[in-house]
Amino acid sequence: MDAAAATTNTIAVEIVALTKQYAIDIPAAVDQIDLRIASGSYCCLLGPSGCGKSTTLRMIAGHETVTHGDILLENRNITRLPAAARGTAMMFQSFALFPHLSALDNVAFSLKMKGVAKAERHRRAAELLERVAMGHLAQRKPGELSGGQQQRVALARALITEPKVLLLDEPLSALDPFLRVQMRAELRRWQKELGLTFIHVTHSQEEAMALADTMVVMNHGLIEQVGSPHQVYNHPASEFVARFMGGHNVLQTPAGQVAVRNDHMRIVPATEPGDSGLRATITDLEYQGIYVLLGLALAEAPPSLKSVSVLLHESHFLARPFALGQQVLLSWEEAHARLLGPGAQRPAMRTSQPQKPRRDELAAMAA
Ligand code: ADP
Ligand code: MG
Repeated sequence: MDAAAATTNTIAVEIVALTKQYAIDIPAAVDQIDLRIASGSYCCLLGPSGCGKSTTLRMIAGHETVTHGDILLENRNITRLPAAARGTAMMFQSFALFPHLSALDNVAFSLKMKGVAKAERHRRAAELLERVAMGHLAQRKPGELSGGQQQRVALARALITEPKVLLLDEPLSALDPFLRVQMRAELRRWQKELGLTFIHVTHSQEEAMALADTMVVMNHGLIEQVGSPHQVYNHPASEFVARFMGGHNVLQTPAGQVAVRNDHMRIVPATEPGDSGLRATITDLEYQGIYVLLGLALAEAPPSLKSVSVLLHESHFLARPFALGQQVLLSWEEAHARLLGPGAQRPAMRTSQPQKPRRDELAAMAA
């Protein structure tokens, strides 16, 4: 996306100093985060288990109360609205379809709950099933549908309330790896076709990179980095992001801590005269098909930075194989080293004054 397009893009969801404190005596699960999500974009909230992704998503959905801060959907403050009045819809893990209902009745379900007459809700459900190319299978039960078809029914079911934003909490994580890769391609395709804003929670960096226009990397209730997959992968903002995204070495230089992609490392046998670099020993060797991944231990480095990796193209490896236990020298080009910042700072270190929880919220937390 170029800068001009970015500034003319409208914002679907804006989060301002959003905080969730489940209990007074434990750190906030989500700690004053700020975020703007462009309309029609695929946004992935990414981070390790427990970092606050689901809590953030549930607060946007209205399934979790907000301790303080605000959530705006298309400039409307929805922070205290009930879930059904927000203009969001949720798609759950493994799609959570009712097994005893047909595809049509699954899709029509929320309209039934709203008291919409049968003919009308079936008409609208049939229309949506057509839209996701499932019209011909409307009478099938979930058990008679493939994983991909079930996902489309779940999508149609979420779309029937005409949401502006679709929220997805680890929708693919219970699937086997093969199906997961197929389903994520479908999700991406539907998101683009529908032009809807998707906010998708995942702990998988691979999934987020495959899906997202914008990745939001979270850690301990804070946002570490926001950017395109390319930006985040090639310019990790902090040691946490570099390590979490994988494929990087974090190294100490006179300029400070840097991240270097492991396919950008130069490796030569330590015996060659005239070569310089960091001395290391090969401790692991893994064939990965097109690539060979070497694990190494640096001879002189602080313990936390000792272990590094090098990804070699198979043809390079075959031309000059390395062996376990071999002494080598590692180096990299200056242009490939990304200087790392300190990472997300806790709100206490920010200049703005945090709001206190309201009295009734404190009472609710203590109860
Ligand atoms: P993620 O989805 O990134 O794995 P969550 O948002 O589920 O993380 O959880 C963030 C933190 O909040 C974790 O420490 C978790 O234990 C805690 N937490 C989540 N839900 C609740 C709850 N209902 N009550 C108390 N603590 C919770
Ligand atoms: Mg979660």
